Amino acid sequence: MSSFQAQLTPDTYYPSMNAEGNYVDVIPFNFNVVQGFYCPCRSRKEKICFTKKTTLSAHFKTNNHELWIASLNSNKHNYLVENEELKKLVESQKLQISEQAKVIDKQNFKITAQLNAIKSLNVMIEIYHKETDNDNCNSIDTLNQHNIYLIDFNFYVV
Ligand SMILES: [Zn+2]
Repeated sequence: MSSFQAQLTPDTYYPSMNAEGNYVDVIPFNFNVVQGFYCPCRSRKEKICFTKKTTLSAHFKTNNHELWIASLNSNKHNYLVENEELKKLVESQKLQISEQAKVIDKQNFKITAQLNAIKSLNVMIEIYHKETDNDNCNSIDTLNQHNIYLIDFNFYVV
């Protein structure tokens, strides 16, 4: 087996729905021998990877699997209700994610503005040091000459 093949994880098998709306077993049309299929009728620990159509077919006839299909069919209505509830949950989570993205954009904008203000301050400090080293002039006058008061120090957080 090549390293590429070893990385493939088995697909999950799901039964199909017939014309009467019942779950029935059908060998998946895209059955991939290399990848194989797990059947969800078994617990996670007991999962077997079926890599042959014949062994998957034989599995369909086991008691455990037949009970699982019967359980799916008897709980169809519940699955429908659950599915609708999950759809609503997904929609509300999409909205929440979009709101969070807006908040993050806003914060990023503020951070960029603050970084720019810090850069400007560093430039002003450098100028101040140069000028005070050169002629020892009044520091407040030096800063005023370079319009340092125009820098926005309002680093408020909403
Ligand atoms: Zn099964």
